Amino acid sequence: MRIAILSCQNVKDDSNCVSEGCMRAFNTCSASFDRYQGEEVELVGHNTCAGCPTLYAYDKILRRVKPLVEFARAEKIHFSSCMMKMCPFWQKYKQVIEDAYPQVEVIIGTDAKQGDSLDAMADIFHRLLADTSGDITDEFNALIAKARAAQAAQ
Ligand code: SF4
Repeated sequence: MRIAILSCQNVKDDSNCVSEGCMRAFNTCSASFDRYQGEEVELVGHNTCAGCPTLYAYDKILRRVKPLVEFARAEKIHFSSCMMKMCPFWQKYKQVIEDAYPQVEVIIGTDAKQGDSLDAMADIFHRLLADTSGDITDEFNALIAKARAAQAAQ
């Protein structure tokens, strides 16, 4: 089975998410990938959405899906867990993709399943997405600076 992942551009690019959770779930055939246990599966592509579409341009998602299906030949596309939980457009995206590529199944979730709570992530993503003064790297650097200052004060 040829699998692809589609993630939220806000999370993947703006917050520098490296999809570690998605990869771990795929590699261990767990969470939303547990359906493939005992099957031969291959991760053939990973892309983000094309950015928020407003109310009128849901089909812009097809720009990002085209290479996954027509080049990487994905048979299943998993929407990432962050997309599942935070994207107001995922239902519409699913419909647009399945209309354009009826041979492809869209599955909701990667390292979490539909219905799982991701509340623990809410604070993190609010901080990373709404506070434009920083990203994951800035947060890490701030942590190091704080540790150095504490060391210097000793
Ligand atoms: S359209 Fe959805 S998946 Fe894409 S950036 Fe916006 S919230 Fe994230």
